[in-house]
Amino acid sequence: MKRLCGRIAVVTASTDGIGFAIAQRLAQEGAKVIISSRKEKNVNKAVDKLCKEGLDVKGLVCHVSNATDREKLFDQAHKLGGLDILVSNAAVNPEVGDVLDCSESSWDKIFDVNVKSSFLLAKEAVPLLKQSKSGRLIFISSIAGFQPFNLLGAYSVSKTALLGLTKAAALQLAPDGITVNCVAPGIIQTKFSDALTSSESARTEALSRIPLNRLGDTNDVSGVVAFLASNDGAYVTGENIVVAGGMASRL
Ligand code: NAP
Repeated sequence: MKRLCGRIAVVTASTDGIGFAIAQRLAQEGAKVIISSRKEKNVNKAVDKLCKEGLDVKGLVCHVSNATDREKLFDQAHKLGGLDILVSNAAVNPEVGDVLDCSESSWDKIFDVNVKSSFLLAKEAVPLLKQSKSGRLIFISSIAGFQPFNLLGAYSVSKTALLGLTKAAALQLAPDGITVNCVAPGIIQTKFSDALTSSESARTEALSRIPLNRLGDTNDVSGVVAFLASNDGAYVTGENIVVAGGMASRL
């Protein structure tokens, strides 16, 4: 499918895992995609891989908490002709544990990267998105934002905040024709979820909570993002879409 020909997309934290799969899928659908992450060698490797697949991608270093890095991201989009799609995907979890045991420094880091950077990226993207005929803002939350994981306490709360940011921004940007949605993945096999899936016992415990009885693949998430980014998703806004194999997702 080539639903995104002529569109320009920025995907943060897109040199590995879910972000990489999203960048790859948007590019396969015809978009020009700007990929980024903190480490230059990861950016170069990802750009190289996608270019070899014949995809139209550019890459640059962007730590999402760094204002200068974010500015460079949007400058690059401007140079390519504008911005139609922003996928805010970066997140960290520096500490494992229950929510009220989280240190203040980890709390600040989690909220800085997972929530504040998503807010700032969205805010900074709006002037460009307003010039697009089909502006799309997509946040990547987590099933943990609906149903907190006890070992990912503060991280879960940060992901719940994105559900609210989605609703609020969708209302604000609807008059400009920009849709704002959020995708909440379940347990997807990436480096980030290694602790939840690598040992036999952790895997069995994870699978016991997934009605479809399999861990998610990064492509399970990228397809949903591509739908939201395309004209097929044009009438969907303010939604938090769970991609979690049936895991419990009531707030
Ligand atoms: P991952 O495989 O560990 O990949 C992380 C990517 O983020 C890498 O490209 C990394 O590259 C980049 N990155 C990390 N910190 C960054 C920062 N501050 N600024 C810019 N880039 C940064 O992670 P993932 O599993 O794909 O997770 C992606 C998103 O999905 C996150 O928002 C996560 O919360 C969410 N999610 C994941 C799962 C899951 O089970 N995997 C479930 C629910 C939600 P560098 O090291 O070069 O920066």
